[in-house]
Amino acid sequence: MTAISKTAILARLSAVRAPGAEDDIVAQGLVSEIIIAGNDVTFALTAQARDARAMEATRRAAEEAVKALPGIGKVIVALTADRPAKSSGTPAEAARHARGTAVPGVSRIIAVASGKGGVGKSTTAVNIALGLVAMGLRTGILDADIYGPSMPKLLGLTERPRLSGPGSKKLKPLERFGLKAMSMGFLVDESTPMIWRGPMVMGALVQMLREVEWGALDCLVVDMPPGTGDVQLTLAQQTPLSGAVIVSTPQDLALIDARKGLAMFEKVSVPVLGIVENMSYFLCANCGTRHEIFGHGGAKAEAEKLSVAFLGEVPLDAELRRRSDQGEPVTACEPASPLAAVYRNIAGRVWQAVASGENSRKPPPRIIIEK
Ligand code: ADP
Repeated sequence: MTAISKTAILARLSAVRAPGAEDDIVAQGLVSEIIIAGNDVTFALTAQARDARAMEATRRAAEEAVKALPGIGKVIVALTADRPAKSSGTPAEAARHARGTAVPGVSRIIAVASGKGGVGKSTTAVNIALGLVAMGLRTGILDADIYGPSMPKLLGLTERPRLSGPGSKKLKPLERFGLKAMSMGFLVDESTPMIWRGPMVMGALVQMLREVEWGALDCLVVDMPPGTGDVQLTLAQQTPLSGAVIVSTPQDLALIDARKGLAMFEKVSVPVLGIVENMSYFLCANCGTRHEIFGHGGAKAEAEKLSVAFLGEVPLDAELRRRSDQGEPVTACEPASPLAAVYRNIAGRVWQAVASGENSRKPPPRIIIEK
């Protein structure tokens, strides 16, 4: 049970007003999503670059106001230049508003998520995206795993993104294997410690979504940060997602985590397109035998139980790991391999699931009788 509630925090913040402002900071929509971890609280306040200095006093006042709550732990309030959605009274309204705001030129956004790290979520995300490219779809990938970005390695990209044109404030995504890509890893050196605070992470992600010149895309695949915490939930809530794919390994524990992933997307009303079972079985290159090391079929059975589509299974494959780590994703670099076919199939099912979800939400066609 969380002792500290968002309502109590917002009530305190409603008493804080920036110098010269007509309304308090909550009513002005300057407060970001509030992240509560145990008794620690983190959120951001929006400040225009030119009045950031003046806002410092307001930031401190907001921090003090929240610190006065009984039982409170650490309070971190950051200033950010990223503005929540316009004309929104509360962070909840801001989230709803942002969710409904499409990314210009991008038709569909699909999240690839996992209940925990290390299950092969990023590997799956990049290969599904390349499977969509192979289907002739204009596709991009956004690496939202800000703490451990993997797209530079998986796609073998080392250059930095540039501004999309003279005077432009938008970044041009990098491109590899016909796939557009953006990752915090392209902007920050691997050796730089990433001490991102929750709201800062959100700000960075919203920027990567909206301030990148994606161009016309049929599909943008978002490689979500692993897990189902507050950052993931906020991201799922604030991104206009068409659907989500959950990656799981066959182990029971991972499946428990996968269920948490399902619950998270259900909570924010994002349709779950299905589950992919990764490291499903081991196909021995020498004897050709299929070894089901982890007890195979767990994800499929689980998907059935939860009435979620099973999108396919990817074997545990040393060559896949070796190539991934070298920036040579199999779907693009070994298109004739059985593994590439596995990923193309999964991508096809993902695409079908998105399309059928859209069809089922559309009103039935009207019959017009021409005279
Ligand atoms: P996550 O995004 O879930 O943290 P990654 O995609 O980064 O996981 O994968 C973790 C490691 O497992 C990487 O070294 C990757 O190459 C390897 N890996 C992922 N899927 C497979 C697979 N099917 N077979 C072999 N190795 C895999």
